[in-house]
Amino acid sequence: MSRASEPNTGGRRAPVAGAGASSVVGDGAGATGVGDSRATSAVRAVDLRKRYRLGELTINALDGVSIDVKKGEFVAVMGPSGSGKSTLLYLLGLLDTPDSGTVAIEGRETGGLTDDELTGLRRSRLGFLFQTFELIPNLSAAENILLPAEIAGRRAEAAVRLEVLAQQLGIQQRLGHRPRQLSGGQRQRVGLARALINEPAVVLADEPTGNLDTKTGSEVLALLRHGVDALGWTVIMVTHDPLAAQVADRIVFLRDGSIAGETLTADADVRSSIEAFLGS
Ligand code: ADP
Ligand code: MG
Repeated sequence: MSRASEPNTGGRRAPVAGAGASSVVGDGAGATGVGDSRATSAVRAVDLRKRYRLGELTINALDGVSIDVKKGEFVAVMGPSGSGKSTLLYLLGLLDTPDSGTVAIEGRETGGLTDDELTGLRRSRLGFLFQTFELIPNLSAAENILLPAEIAGRRAEAAVRLEVLAQQLGIQQRLGHRPRQLSGGQRQRVGLARALINEPAVVLADEPTGNLDTKTGSEVLALLRHGVDALGWTVIMVTHDPLAAQVADRIVFLRDGSIAGETLTADADVRSSIEAFLGS
């Protein structure tokens, strides 16, 4: 059963305290994710700005975005094409640097770090899941999963973790297969195991179900939901799919590089909040 079809059921925690007025708001209230001060921050960004120059043209891809994702929280980022979703995910994932603003991973500010330090932090504390899976074709599933651990020099621990992840994700029987021998859903499970192999503080996913059919997509979403509920994962997922977004705890809406509002998916009016955002 897909959780997306029943967004208000289940034993989900409310991740943000004091967010009663959490329907879509145009004034940016709650945009910093100010919430339960006892919860630890996994990723916290303040006033991120990023511009791209295309000849004469300057594009404000991000125009002052603040977001705080707590450990154990599942946040979806929605917005139309070009609203800055991927740019935000790249900045939160330390794959690119902002023109201004700050990103802290588990409370550690990254602004002053060297490229090597950023790379080290990214490899050890962040996991990435992509729409197109990005698996290496001539490596087996197991080798793909273990690659980030080898790069980070954590091979010994990873061998044990591989077994656990393969079991949790239901790919034990597929570890020797090459990506082309796997279905789309299996590939994304392998991608997810790879993202999790180094026990990251947060998994950053850019349209992870975008290349999957609805059924396979909801299976991957259910795995993410289960991982957050039962296994302590933290997930930030970019999606344009309202059903996918409703699997998260909280949806942040981006428009023109700014946060246009946010809603908790436990809210009774989550559907109308999404429709209001998409339609406006
Ligand atoms: P989304 O993921 O929401 O579709 P992006 O973050 O990819 O949006 O892009 C936000 C804006 O920045 C868009 O207008 C896009 O064209 C522009 N942009 C993104 N990356 C680049 C780049 N490398 N060079 C120039 N413009 C870019
Ligand atoms: Mg994008």
